[in-house]
Amino acid sequence: MVRGKCFFICDKCKKIFRDLDIEWMATTYSTPVECPQCGSYHTRPILSLKPVYKRIWKSMDEQSSNK
Ligand SMILES: [Zn+2]
Repeated sequence: MVRGKCFFICDKCKKIFRDLDIEWMATTYSTPVECPQCGSYHTRPILSLKPVYKRIWKSMDEQSSNK
């Protein structure tokens, strides 16, 4: 579900950008979006807690390596 737009920060290159805020697997968290600068999916909303997103990034990495 798309909830509008929010500001994300890239964990890799620290780029700040605005993108769609999409619900992560029916939770209150936002789905990480691709960084427009370095292409990494290790991004999170600026106001979010990093430890939570570390877990989400890990599960995304595991999903993409299972393909
Ligand atoms: Zn980046």
